Amino acid sequence: MPFSHLGLDTGILRAIQKAGYTRPTAVQAAAIPKVMQGNDLIAIAQTGTGKTAAFVLPMLHRLLLGNHQTQARGIKSLILAPTRELAVQIMENIRAFGNGLPIRVAAIFGGVEEAAQIKSLHRGVDIIVATPGRLLDLIGRQKLDFSLLELLVLDEADRMLHMGFLPDIEKIVAGVPKRRQTLMFSATLSKEIESLARRFLHQPKMVQIGKRANPADTVDQCVYEVPAHLKNALLLELLRQPKFTRVLVFVRMKDGANVLTNFLKLSGVKVARLHSSRSQEQRLQALQDFKDGKIRVLVATDIVARGIDIEGVSQVVNFDFPVNPEDYVHRIGRTGRAEAEGEAISFVPKQDLNLLDILEMFIGQRLDRKRLRGFDYHAPVPAPTPGEKAPRRDWRKRTRDMEAKKSAKPAGRPAKKNTGPRGRK
Ligand code: AMP
Repeated sequence: MPFSHLGLDTGILRAIQKAGYTRPTAVQAAAIPKVMQGNDLIAIAQTGTGKTAAFVLPMLHRLLLGNHQTQARGIKSLILAPTRELAVQIMENIRAFGNGLPIRVAAIFGGVEEAAQIKSLHRGVDIIVATPGRLLDLIGRQKLDFSLLELLVLDEADRMLHMGFLPDIEKIVAGVPKRRQTLMFSATLSKEIESLARRFLHQPKMVQIGKRANPADTVDQCVYEVPAHLKNALLLELLRQPKFTRVLVFVRMKDGANVLTNFLKLSGVKVARLHSSRSQEQRLQALQDFKDGKIRVLVATDIVARGIDIEGVSQVVNFDFPVNPEDYVHRIGRTGRAEAEGEAISFVPKQDLNLLDILEMFIGQRLDRKRLRGFDYHAPVPAPTPGEKAPRRDWRKRTRDMEAKKSAKPAGRPAKKNTGPRGRK
């Protein structure tokens, strides 16, 4: 079915054509007609299936129709998303599809000065894309008027629940009109999501693309059985292959991201890191450099990488195996987006084999096991001979040295000896 059969405004159809989309993806073809008919909707769709356009396109259509009729300016649509990166990305999608249309959008998220965000609200907006925390803060200070709100979207609802946003979402929903259309998007369908739908949605239609919790079919998945201490070396070995062009590497902890990034840097790999202790500017810069191809590897933690859309990610590497199977689905959804081919590689040391079992039960699929000579625990590498330095210790020491150098006083000013309390000689 072509886009023209969906009944969308001609201005929107032009923008779709400009974006180079030739036909709706499965979730768009299923969801858009239901939303256009005014239904509430739960859409269970894997990430990378085109779900953003599935709610943005009918939202723009509805706004154009409404604006022609009432001409009243005010917040008509609100989209809640779990992270700033996702909020920015949704806003960019809205700007692309709404290019040339009389529709204004603002994004509200924490971690940056709020003055500019408040200023954009004063100019009048039709759509707000927000993370729950900052939005609630502005609601508390009566900076927002939701009396004209007609459409509410909860994007990545499962992730928002995992991040503990439920109390914030409850407060936000309590402050918007009861008569509204509500759309909920989630990568996975869980009891919590069903319960959220029962509370916030009215007789929703359901769209479920693919099997329950089944990762995108276009992603080639495998696991490497590797001892934990050889994960760094294995990653480096894999990166020797030219097909590893734009690689997103997931780790569990921020510290782990720092250590791995330093290791890769020292090994000559162009790399950046993305985690919640980095400033908003650093995070956006890292993403931009990755998108522009200035860096080859982006090391990220789950929270910030959730939902981000980067074209042409060739491999997702689960350097640390995800504790939560839903995180696996999200992580690997960063590659093979919109029906493109992609590879998902997971490192599974012995201590994570139970997590692999749980994941395989969750996705209903056994993942292909791969072994690389010298990097698997079935044939362990010989212990270093006496006097020879183990590579693990070597790079750890080099990482420590690098950190110490960074925190050292600038050259030319020798560090003062600790002489006790200030001023004492
Ligand atoms: P999403 O699941 O919304 O994050 O979208 C994933 C990717 O699919 C994005 O890069 C979109 O630009 C792209 N995309 C969305 N809809 C289509 C479409 N109908 N045809 C081709 N690409 C699309």
